Amino acid sequence: MAITHNLGFPRIGAKRELKFALEAYWKGQTKEAELQQTGAELRQLHWQQQSGLNWAPVGDFSFYDQVLDTSFTLGHLPERVSNLAGTELDNYFRVARGRAVNDSACQCVHAGEMTKWFDTNYHYIVPEFTQDTEFTLNPARLIRQLQEAKSQGVNAKPVIIGPVTYLWLGKSKDGCDRLQLLDKLLPVYQALLQQLADAGAEWVQIDEPALVTELDRNWQHAVNVAYHQLKAAPVKLLVATYFDELRDNLKLACELPVAGLHIDAVRARTEVVRVIDWLPSHKVLSLGIIDGRNIWKSDLTELLSWLEPISQKLGERLWLAPSCSLLHVPVDLTAEQNLDSEIKNWLAFAQQKIDELSTLATALNEGRASVAEKLAQNRDALAGRRASDRVHNPTVQESVAKITPALGKRASSYSKRTAKQRQQLALPRYPTTTIGSFPQTPQIRKDRLAFKQGELKLDEYQNRMRTEIEYSVREQEALGLDVLVHGEAERNDMVEYFGEQLEGYVFSQFGWVQSYGSRCVKPPILFGDITRPHTMTVEWIRYAQSLTDKPMKGMLTGPVTILNWSFVRDDQPRSETCKQLALAIRKEVLDLQAAGVNIIQIDEAALREGLPLRQSQWQEYLTWAVECFRISANGVKDETQIHTHMCYSEFNDIIDAIAHMDADVITIETSRSDMELLDVFDSFKYPNEIGPGVYDIHSPNIPSEEHIVNLMGKARERIPAERLWINPDCGLKTRQWDEVRPALQNMVSAAKSLRNSA
Ligand code: GLN
Ligand code: ZN
Repeated sequence: MAITHNLGFPRIGAKRELKFALEAYWKGQTKEAELQQTGAELRQLHWQQQSGLNWAPVGDFSFYDQVLDTSFTLGHLPERVSNLAGTELDNYFRVARGRAVNDSACQCVHAGEMTKWFDTNYHYIVPEFTQDTEFTLNPARLIRQLQEAKSQGVNAKPVIIGPVTYLWLGKSKDGCDRLQLLDKLLPVYQALLQQLADAGAEWVQIDEPALVTELDRNWQHAVNVAYHQLKAAPVKLLVATYFDELRDNLKLACELPVAGLHIDAVRARTEVVRVIDWLPSHKVLSLGIIDGRNIWKSDLTELLSWLEPISQKLGERLWLAPSCSLLHVPVDLTAEQNLDSEIKNWLAFAQQKIDELSTLATALNEGRASVAEKLAQNRDALAGRRASDRVHNPTVQESVAKITPALGKRASSYSKRTAKQRQQLALPRYPTTTIGSFPQTPQIRKDRLAFKQGELKLDEYQNRMRTEIEYSVREQEALGLDVLVHGEAERNDMVEYFGEQLEGYVFSQFGWVQSYGSRCVKPPILFGDITRPHTMTVEWIRYAQSLTDKPMKGMLTGPVTILNWSFVRDDQPRSETCKQLALAIRKEVLDLQAAGVNIIQIDEAALREGLPLRQSQWQEYLTWAVECFRISANGVKDETQIHTHMCYSEFNDIIDAIAHMDADVITIETSRSDMELLDVFDSFKYPNEIGPGVYDIHSPNIPSEEHIVNLMGKARERIPAERLWINPDCGLKTRQWDEVRPALQNMVSAAKSLRNSA
């Protein structure tokens, strides 16, 4: 009798109801009671949608972030909010986003730092630790939700983040060793488990995804200490790991004194046999068999053939679940009205994944015949996908097979290229440029919406976008920038724009996934071999170039970033898909060059995001990722200058890969680090040109000329002046012209005064 459960359900709502409720509340348009009401309704709906499972998660719902919820449950808030007036929810949003709803200026605080949740695109609020950190139990939210679930007849399994992962996720503010806090933390967890038991919980899922990372001995020891102390709790603990293999931590995880272990049987399928061997015979093994990180239907028949003997062996001890929380996939495929029906039949969103789980359990418990029809439908869908000529394009596969290292190599070394480029471009010292986008004004958004809804004809839409491009070109000329951009008015999003023009992509209407707080992304779905039926950017750039004598930079998104911000195929390695994207972008690069564009920027904002969880696997990823960038960029002649842009701020551990990309110019985000980020470029002796961002585009503040000169002075201490550019940290699409104009004015004046003082 296999038992089914879920680790977590998307909380944002199939139509992003939570997003809109939050934003209305933040604007002061609704009261807390209404927000709470939306929360309760969503929870109820989601529990109903999981009612086919033996256990549904409770506590996975959150108004902002589950890690921040945990900090509240543990009574661990940054000191800066501890004495402020208002309700608990006020403080919650202060830590989340810097302000509550009606905060007078003095009650605003700086928001907690955000960072990526493991290797996902979800961002959590980082707990802040000092050696004086204290914890006090604040279980009300969790207990309330447990009672709420029980009153609705839900077989409720509370979900909490485990103590070791909680410490692991946080950051020490005073250099203290976070593990020193474990002794203070465990009694609070003990009390929490006691209260959950008192409120009727039988099982508690305690998430320890830190177990799939490289833990040193101290951290491994902490895991042991923690669960030996928690074993006295009067509930059954299911320790949940996900996102990767356990490897060195496998034995440790199996031997913890708890009632059950969940592992990611999608990414760590090869470990299942070993886990079964190691797991003591009284423990439950929960196998995460449905991919919680992607949107494809599972192969139910294949899974059953694999699971049947396991189920026979384990009997009641076998639990089945998605690999991880379904937070990382969209909610409901049936909401999609416009998806191509053939491709739609290959997909499963959260709700469909829950159905798959039930079907599998029924087949295991009652025999395949009891769900014969569902299994047949699933087989048909998968067979259709496997055989579809929309997925498989022999010409593309041949081109990928023919890739040689030569394809990724420039004809000459940087020093030779740069001489030719300098002659051709004749730029002044400290050339100024921007990263690509200019403000996406309300008018631009309105025009695009009207075009998408069919209210604006293509011709008229293009005319309007050309007008916007001309506007930004005139502004840049007036500002006196050296290398201009067209401003990206025609682009909704730097990945979607390219996905929409490539064959092999489809787009959902409601496939939203939470990125942080109320922010969601709608990753495009890459389903088939990638081709570029026509040029994607050439006409726009050509038009922009026709307006000016200044050099116009062509603007593209790189293959690795397109890959990392899409839902991608699970029927071939990511590296293979990335190579196809690289060949498509390469064609665009060569067409831009043929159209007379001498500078081409290929953004790789998400290159770092694709790094595997374990550092030991980084090299493999970086090798193919950088190779793909090189394939896309390096087919050009010496005179064509390749730029790349990356907006994260951590290069220390990947600097050799960055150098191997061999872009002539790299622009990076540095303004908030006071140029210290350049240290690693300096010590690595990074040979090519760098544009360290001098203007923090996330802030509405206008940087002064003096500030920029000062920052560039620091840059010059690390990088020779002749290899420095001056530019903002990132694109300006989220800013307003009134902010952009004076900021760039100061940037250009700073460049002039640096040139004069040289
Ligand atoms: N060219 C893009 C822009 O300027 C780059 C955005 C990014 O790096 N995220 O908007
Ligand atoms: Zn950027």
